[in-house]
Amino acid sequence: DANPFKKMPTILTPEELMDKAHRRSEKVANELRTTLIGIPRLPKSRTIEEQKIRTISSVVSDNLLKIIDKTPSIDRLKPFYKELVEVMVGIDEFKKSLGAVKWASELVKKLGNDYAKKARKAKVPAEASKYRKEFVGRTASILKQIYPNLAFLAVAREKLKNLPTVKELPTLVIAGYPNVGKSTLLRKLTTAEPEINAYPFTTKGLNVGYIGEDIQVVDTPGVLDRPLYERNDIELQAVLALNYLANMILFVLDPSEYCGYSIGEQLNLLKEVSDLFKVPIIVAINKIDLTDEEKLREIEEKLKDYKIIKISADKDIGLDELKETVVKELIIKN
Ligand code: GDP
Repeated sequence: DANPFKKMPTILTPEELMDKAHRRSEKVANELRTTLIGIPRLPKSRTIEEQKIRTISSVVSDNLLKIIDKTPSIDRLKPFYKELVEVMVGIDEFKKSLGAVKWASELVKKLGNDYAKKARKAKVPAEASKYRKEFVGRTASILKQIYPNLAFLAVAREKLKNLPTVKELPTLVIAGYPNVGKSTLLRKLTTAEPEINAYPFTTKGLNVGYIGEDIQVVDTPGVLDRPLYERNDIELQAVLALNYLANMILFVLDPSEYCGYSIGEQLNLLKEVSDLFKVPIIVAINKIDLTDEEKLREIEEKLKDYKIIKISADKDIGLDELKETVVKELIIKN
C-alpha cells in the first residue's frame, strides 16, 4: 500500500554504468587468467574476450531492466498517483523514457550474444579483442542515445519517491484556513500519531490518519487553506489531484476568528472548495467554546446549504457526533 514509486532504483548515468560493467568484466577476466594457466593463447583469449563481452552485456542490460521492473506501470496506478505523475513529470514523457530504456536493454543483450559468439570463433587473439572493443563501443553509443531518458527518469524518481503514502480507503479530506483547528481535529478524530508526508508544490505536506481500519483522514496544510486565485497553474493541479483522493470533505470553520481570517474570507474559501470538488461536504464549526450563541446562529444561517456540526476540537465537544456522521456517510456511500 506504500507509495508505488518508493521501489524505483537509483538510476546510474551511462558513464557510471559503463564503469560498473568494466570493473565487473575485469574481475571475471582476472579469475579466468588464473584458471586458464597453461592453455594456449588463442583459446584462452577467445574465452576471456567472450566472457568479458557477456559480463558487460548482462551488467548493462540487467541494470536497465531493473529500472523497468521496479517502476510501477502507469496504466495500473491508482488515479490519484496517476494524476500526480501527470502534474509533476508528465505521463507521456515518463512512458517514452521507460520505452527507450527497455529498447536499450534488449538491444545490448542481443548484441552481447552476437559479439560473444564472434569472439568465440576468432581466428587470432587480436580478432577476439577487436570484437570486444567493437561491442563496448556500440553499447556506449546506445547508452549515450538514451542519456536524456535516463536523466528524465532520475529526476522523476527524485520527485516521485517522496509522494505521500495513501491507502485505497474511503477518504475524508480536511480543508480550511490555517489555525482554524484542522490538525487538532485530525489528532482527535484518528488513532495513532498522523503520518506526515510531502506533497508537491507545498512546504508542509499531507498528514494522514485513520479512523479504525476503514477510513482515511487527510489534512492538507498549504493545499486547501487559502484562496485558489492566489495559485499558479501547477499548484492548482496539485490541489485538483485531491479530487481523486477525497470521497468527502470536512471544511473546518473558525467563527471566533482567532485564526486571523474573517468569517467572510472563510466562507469564500468554502464556496471555492464546493465548486472545485464533486464530493459531499460537511462543515465543522469549530471553537464553539470561544464563540457566543448569537454569532453561531448568524453563521448557521449562512450555511443553510450545508450539513453542519458544531464542535470544539480542543475541548472535545461534538467530536463523537462528527465521527459518527463521517463514518455513516463514508461507509454507506462507498
Ligand atoms: P490548523 O492550522 O488548522 O491545523 O490549526 P491547529 O489545529 O494548529 O489549531 C490552531 C490553534 O487553535 C491551536 O492553538 C489550537 O490549540 C487552537 N484550537 C483548535 N481547536 C480549538 C477549539 O475548539 N477551541 C479552542 N479554544 N482552541 C482551539
